[in-house]
Amino acid sequence: MSILNDLRNIPVSHVAGNGKKTLASYFALGVESIYDLINLRPRGYEDRTRRVCIGHQVPDGPWTNTIVQVQGKSFFGKGLKNVKVTVKDTESGVRGELLGFNRPYLDKTVVTGAFYKLYAFQMPQAFRMPQFSKFELTALPDSFALTENAEKSISGGLKPVYPLSGNLTQNMVRKHMGLAFSDIPVLENDLPESLYGKYKLISLDKAYRALHAPKSAEDVRQALRTLGFSEIFYMQLLAMRRSSSDGSITRRSVTPQIYEAEKKLLESLPFELTEDQKKVLQEIRKDMSGERSMNRLLQGDVGSGKTLVALVAAVHCAAEGSQVAFMAPTELLARQHAINASRLLAPLGVNVAYLDGTVTGKARALLLKNLREHNIDLVIGTHALFSKDVEYAKLGFVIVDEQHRFGVEQRRALFAKGQNPDVLMMTATPIPRTLALTIYGDLNVSTIKTMPGGRLPVKTYIAPPEKRQAMYDSVHVELQRGHQAYFVYPRIGDGEEEEESSLKDVVSMYSYLSERYSSFHGALIHSHLPDDEKIKILEDFNSGKISFLVSTSVVEVGIDVPNATCMVIEHADFFGLSALHQLRGRVGRGKLQSWCFLAPGDNVSKDGMKRLEVLKSTNDGFVIAEQDLLIRGPGEISGLRQSGFTNLKFVSLDKDLNMIAAARDEVSQILATDSGLLEADHAVLRRALLELQSF
Ligand code: ADP
Ligand code: MG
Repeated sequence: MSILNDLRNIPVSHVAGNGKKTLASYFALGVESIYDLINLRPRGYEDRTRRVCIGHQVPDGPWTNTIVQVQGKSFFGKGLKNVKVTVKDTESGVRGELLGFNRPYLDKTVVTGAFYKLYAFQMPQAFRMPQFSKFELTALPDSFALTENAEKSISGGLKPVYPLSGNLTQNMVRKHMGLAFSDIPVLENDLPESLYGKYKLISLDKAYRALHAPKSAEDVRQALRTLGFSEIFYMQLLAMRRSSSDGSITRRSVTPQIYEAEKKLLESLPFELTEDQKKVLQEIRKDMSGERSMNRLLQGDVGSGKTLVALVAAVHCAAEGSQVAFMAPTELLARQHAINASRLLAPLGVNVAYLDGTVTGKARALLLKNLREHNIDLVIGTHALFSKDVEYAKLGFVIVDEQHRFGVEQRRALFAKGQNPDVLMMTATPIPRTLALTIYGDLNVSTIKTMPGGRLPVKTYIAPPEKRQAMYDSVHVELQRGHQAYFVYPRIGDGEEEEESSLKDVVSMYSYLSERYSSFHGALIHSHLPDDEKIKILEDFNSGKISFLVSTSVVEVGIDVPNATCMVIEHADFFGLSALHQLRGRVGRGKLQSWCFLAPGDNVSKDGMKRLEVLKSTNDGFVIAEQDLLIRGPGEISGLRQSGFTNLKFVSLDKDLNMIAAARDEVSQILATDSGLLEADHAVLRRALLELQSF
């Protein structure tokens, strides 16, 4: 018996030799050890399970897998290098030509009149008869070819097709793989035995061997299931172990002052918290009084009231005597949070400060001093919050808004400014629950599903070209009612030139709309404007001085104007689902009925139209996130790429959700009942973890 992890110590040169080129090619594929080699997942398989006669077409490939009798052979081309072998299929009777370029030995080895197994790819252009340049001929005993067993002899199972690099060929990798497996003694299972029966897994040894030399498609399926379960199981085991081994902190007990401060804040609001907001706050309070620091993801649609929940939690923390850092991805958003926070929290005696890259010189020095000396309770800002020179007296709580916009390292840099601070991350682009649990194996997830009361769901329409005028008219009616509107244009393409041409688009649309709505004030806002101008425009929009805003997607995040009732998105098919959903979330933020118009461009793609239909059919961000996953695949979901979960080899994030959830449940149950992994059935895990830690 041998342990899988041991194979990490054996370099791939053990089977591949010491050729520099070959080793470099393997390194390029991430293969350095025998462990890496056997984890090289085939891209697919050549199906040699069925007989495919010469002249017969199979839907999934132009190959032939049959028995032939050789009818003749001859050299062709210049010199005695190329051999042409003429064969006849023993079943279909169709003749074919095998073109052996640079294979002069065929003239000696191939015997006219003899029978062979033939596996070959047909060339696209045949002349007199089907021709093959890539082929394998395997000799059969003459008598055998005509017996009933002939059919069976053709079945070579499925041949793996590997990803290649450099000078590697399929045959080389297949050969090295074969050598590796002939050397490896039986591999020991790496999961608790009870799981094999429960989830119908095959043994680890069988699984690896089946992956590289399957007899049938079912073999491959079973192998992938077993290897996938193991992969996701260990990923989550590592994540959950990590989270339970650190983060331990000492808390002060929750004092009456803390309750008093929270109560005051809630009483100062002109509305009641929604049930979901209350529930989430309960969860947060519980975390904040636990022995370990909080690590929570708060998901909720745009406008569902996440920020407010975060601010209540901030008050909790400030009253406890700790500092709070609240980080947002853009200056605009950070500034808006800061304005809100000072309005709500300053009356409670919470000192709020704002910090971004534009705060410099004396102002910055003073602010940093106040942070160090704990004269500031809550600092709101951009990534400037974790700059080198920023020191906190006692950072106890970190809030990250739109967390997926930050990289793992950036978030970590901020967390490192405190000692195991409580962490609350927020996102308005939710991912399906199972996936969230998986990616954030060590993270608790809270969800706000309901919107604050009194809000009417936004009505969404798709406005094709012939309805554009009617759409502008509807907006006009809303403007006349004293309401406000957004017109959004995508940035088409990434290049400078394209950016300019799409800018021209907004500019010309702005002049068109200004004429059309000549009795109203409009403003044009785009990414080339200086920040202070942007902010001025948004303030004027906020106060109602400006009735309509024409913009590139800069309004995507964080503008909160309850009087705005129209969102017009032109070339809407250029936006992704979650961006569209975010944009739509800019309206419907007050008690007024709001509308979202999606105007597709002229040459709208099928996928583009599908996205608009999805958006029209639902306002539920979670449904949209799931559709997004289906339409684009998991690799495209923001936040996923940084998580490392898109590197999974044997697990597919969209197709294997059930298995992912099952593995997670098993891991958490094991850790809950046997956190030291001392039970006999768990010894295998303890050992694997120990070994993994040495890599
Ligand atoms: P999010 O951060 O989820 O996008 P916000 O916290 O910014 O949402 O809330 C959006 C708007 O809804 C804000 O104007 C906020 O004051 C308001 N709001 C929050 N909670 C409630 C509530 N329970 N009832 C009414 N309005 C609310
Ligand atoms: Mg928000």
